[in-house]
Amino acid sequence: MYDFEFDGLPHAMVRVRLDQGVTGFGEASDGYGFAHPGLLRTIVQDVLAPLLGRPGLVSVPQVAGLLKAELRRRPGLAGPVGHAVSAVEMALWDAVGRRDGLSVRSMLGGHRERLGVYASSHFLFQGDADWHVHHLEPWLARGVSAVKLRLGLDWRTDLATLAQVRDRLGPAVDIFVDGTEHYSLDTALRVSRALADLGVSMFEEPLPQERHLGVQRLVDQSAVAIGYGEHFGMAGDYDRAIRDGRADVLQPDPATSGGLLEMVRIGEIAERAGVPVMPHSAAGPVAFAANLHASSALTTLRLVEFPYSMAEPWHEILDANPFTLEHLDGGAFAVPTGPGLGIEVDEAALAGRSTRVLDIEVPASTAAWTDWSQGNV
Ligand SMILES: [Mg+2]
Repeated sequence: MYDFEFDGLPHAMVRVRLDQGVTGFGEASDGYGFAHPGLLRTIVQDVLAPLLGRPGLVSVPQVAGLLKAELRRRPGLAGPVGHAVSAVEMALWDAVGRRDGLSVRSMLGGHRERLGVYASSHFLFQGDADWHVHHLEPWLARGVSAVKLRLGLDWRTDLATLAQVRDRLGPAVDIFVDGTEHYSLDTALRVSRALADLGVSMFEEPLPQERHLGVQRLVDQSAVAIGYGEHFGMAGDYDRAIRDGRADVLQPDPATSGGLLEMVRIGEIAERAGVPVMPHSAAGPVAFAANLHASSALTTLRLVEFPYSMAEPWHEILDANPFTLEHLDGGAFAVPTGPGLGIEVDEAALAGRSTRVLDIEVPASTAAWTDWSQGNV
């Protein structure tokens, strides 16, 4: 595993090596890079690697299913364990795709070749309206149609800045706002009314996500669609959130919520409920590439989050970075088409920055691995 910082944002990646010698990369995210890579390293080494060292890699869905079946009772799949499973599952897709010469998108049945993104931007308190518009303009000029800005604790001042940004951008640009779980229900309702007046079309994570009753009331009463999901666990959490009325928009992330297959399942849950999906993305380029592959299979997909300010150093991680301003066409990125995730991690550049590399060996024996139930006995 690599753990390193680019401009203060720690990333955490794993590399799996199939017994045919093919390697694949995966990345974990705790919602914003990965704050505690050492925690992930321990989980990968102590919990996941011994399981992967057993024979039985027939397919990535089988291995991912068995990992989850093994872990769900002890130590559970919430939080960092789920993030670690996400990274390993992602790396397995990359490795198997490279081994078989297949794009992960095609293996997942993804039907979209290009995906629209929104420009995920800064906290409003970081600058005045001119400053924000200056940073957004290059992306809008490449066809991006939606932006996201973030509210802080002084939300009254932030809303005044947002009103000026709205004036500058005009009505054609969709604006989303992230509340970063700062607010009480009362404040969130007040803010949501102000956002509705400004034509904001999504208010993300206004309350701490575990305040289920408050979130339900907000979803019920807000005139602006409420987004949640970047801190949920596996697909069941998204299903429950929809059933409980705790989200109008789902924001899964394959680096957080259990991997690419889990993301496709979340997409199926969203489709049945008629709920739009706006995938969350706030980590490195491996996680973003995986996000495009998984999102290509989602039927109720709207736009994928593109954290443009975090993406500046990605050229230091990849041999050829396909996620630059120049690669954006009509506000959309192409899903990489090469085998696996279709990106090439510059391992030499990483080695110069990393404190350690952990490779997980994954035997590719087809011997059955069936000594633990998935609730199907
Ligand atoms: Mg967010």
